[in-house]
Amino acid sequence: MPICPECDTDLDLDEEELDEGDIVSCPECGSDFEVITKHPLELNPVDELDEDDEDDDDDEEEEDSDY
Ligand SMILES: [Zn+2]
Repeated sequence: MPICPECDTDLDLDEEELDEGDIVSCPECGSDFEVITKHPLELNPVDELDEDDEDDDDDEEEEDSDY
């Protein structure tokens, strides 16, 4: 059974139904992981690049609504 690398929660997934490249989400901490290899099962955290409104000090973004 796959374990969340972030919080060690049982991800409750059937490894046989996973494919390399699949994205799985941890129900406990909400992190997304990509299946790198199945044997052994290796998960890689997915960096969400869609939203960068966190600690981004760079003001080179063009979509600054305060213009
Ligand atoms: Zn987790």
